[in-house]
Amino acid sequence: MTRHHRGSGEGWIRGSVVALECLLVTGQRMARVEVVGDDAVRVLREVFGFSSFRGAQAEIVERTIAGEDSVVLMPTGGGKSLCYQLPSLVRPGVGIVVSPLIALMHDQVEALRLLGVRASYWNSTSSDEEVYRTRQALRSGELDLLYVAPERLLTPSFLTTLDEVADSGGIALFAIDEAHCVSAWGHDFRPEYLRIAEITSRFPGVPRIALTATADAITRREIHQRLGLTEAREFVTSFDRPNIRYVVEEKNDVRAQLLRFLAQGDDGEGFRGQTGIVYCQSRKRTEEFAQLLRDNGYDAIAYHAGMHGDERSAAQQRFRREDGVVVCATIAFGMGIDKPDVRFVAHVDIPKSLEGYYQETGRAGRDGEPSVAWMAYGLADVVAQSQFISGGGASVEQQRVEQMKLDAMLGYAEAATCRRRVLLAYFGEESGDCGNCDTCLSPPELYDATVDTQKALSAVIRTGQRFGAGHIIDVLRGKKTAKIESWNHHDLPTFGVGVELSDQEWRSVIRQLVARGLLSPDPSRMGALTVTEKARPVLEGRETVMLRRMTATPARVKKARASSPGGAPADVTDDDRALFEVLRAERRALADAEGVPPYVVFPDRTLWELVAARPQTPEQLLAVNGIGPVKAEKYGARFLELLSGP
Ligand code: ADP
Ligand code: ZN
Repeated sequence: MTRHHRGSGEGWIRGSVVALECLLVTGQRMARVEVVGDDAVRVLREVFGFSSFRGAQAEIVERTIAGEDSVVLMPTGGGKSLCYQLPSLVRPGVGIVVSPLIALMHDQVEALRLLGVRASYWNSTSSDEEVYRTRQALRSGELDLLYVAPERLLTPSFLTTLDEVADSGGIALFAIDEAHCVSAWGHDFRPEYLRIAEITSRFPGVPRIALTATADAITRREIHQRLGLTEAREFVTSFDRPNIRYVVEEKNDVRAQLLRFLAQGDDGEGFRGQTGIVYCQSRKRTEEFAQLLRDNGYDAIAYHAGMHGDERSAAQQRFRREDGVVVCATIAFGMGIDKPDVRFVAHVDIPKSLEGYYQETGRAGRDGEPSVAWMAYGLADVVAQSQFISGGGASVEQQRVEQMKLDAMLGYAEAATCRRRVLLAYFGEESGDCGNCDTCLSPPELYDATVDTQKALSAVIRTGQRFGAGHIIDVLRGKKTAKIESWNHHDLPTFGVGVELSDQEWRSVIRQLVARGLLSPDPSRMGALTVTEKARPVLEGRETVMLRRMTATPARVKKARASSPGGAPADVTDDDRALFEVLRAERRALADAEGVPPYVVFPDRTLWELVAARPQTPEQLLAVNGIGPVKAEKYGARFLELLSGP
């Protein structure tokens, strides 16, 4: 049975069914009607304003509506929320969503209310009065969705209410969001999560759906066991984020490089006025980079764990509520960042591991629009990280694991093949070349670097394996520095054998040799390079080495697709852009008036679709992706007015 949402009267439902049928007739937006029940497709369009399900959503939704349990592993931005929100609307009763992210509940609930869904939340920030009203609404069957913090779920009074609800209107489903919080091994462990199974098992027949973006095998097993979901079907979506373009540059003047990246993007468009995150290694650097960006006209703020709590929440709030804020942050800026329109994530220092890199870059482009993950790194970064690992007082075993993770990160940074392939392979996924990373778009030129490699290895050996890259390069290039003279290194046979390569080119060769494990910087001796066992066959001339040829300036990546980051079509005119800005300003005003982030009103993509389609009637408006009847009714007139010109 489908319940109708009484969000704003019944009129829109009938009106939109007519509009919907028109769409079906034209065949433009044929969804997977054959896969999922009509009710689900209708709610998808009429409430959420989406034309079709994404990937596994259709099957998950169908199962949940049918009352079966599922475990869903989907990357960030994959569209997990719809998997429980939609069945909650189709099934009778209220959907109970357990989530530890209290800070996000308010926005999630507001976003649902704007769609006409009767949603509410119950957590430690709720006032007594709010709790009272929520309870009343629950008892009288007036809620479609309720978000609860795990510790609330466990309170006896909430359980009593749930029992009453189960007897009256019913419970549509239990959704356990961030399900990896059951894992005692993980960073996000919540002891309350261990008791969720006990609660949900009181209500047999109510489907349960556990969702997470963490996919490793141990966590998966724990989710099934500890949430009592041993019979649940598991849905694992690829962890690929195809809309994110990966770009890596070698670091020389990182400040200038970052400014150039922001001004030009990787395709000449640039990121002025767009939202982004710049990840830095230290608190001090977050302040420095924020200042640098402000000096250059960006709306930038710093964020790190050393800031006061209220400063931190103010920064978070600005990032979420305003358009075009750039946050320069340490990795403390993380869990719960679900702003969908982050257009770039820049790393000005190398992360410690590919897991971290994937998580951090994954905050870009949750809305599925083209976005860029950009990183600048140099050998000095790697040495600094290694020193950090060996000086951190961790056990030898732990240090070894951390060093291996760093090696994998370096292997990615130095990859001569598709970066996405390297990244996904690390997570156990196989894939072809992606066509949307820097190495795919501007394939590096490989050359036989066996002789260069032998020269570099030999310089390291002959100087006693106790010097860093800078000194080794001076030896190769025959520079008579004071240090060279004091060690008599100008007398070595390798002195000056590498004049044909520049300093930069040698640095690139050495980094690649480190990435391949032929050279290893010793963190306990200031990054002194040592030659590894793996180098022997090369030294003995039994193995050749192909390396990437270094280019003087990073090659501009060719355009890969007909749209640029931000969801703007490639061929926008100045008029289009001006209109987009008008719509964007209106969106901001509406969002401010309702106290929600702008994307909750409409995502960027919807604004661009409005610019492209320039709808003139309410029916035409409904054909735009992201505009359902409720939003059409609420904002339609205002936007139609703006679209019809001055
Ligand atoms: P997750 O929770 O997996 O990180 P969300 O549920 O927040 O992802 O969804 C990410 C974005 O994708 C949101 O902006 C959402 O509106 C959008 N989205 C989800 N499902 C669809 C769909 N079927 N069609 C179009 N957009 C969708
Ligand atoms: Zn690629």
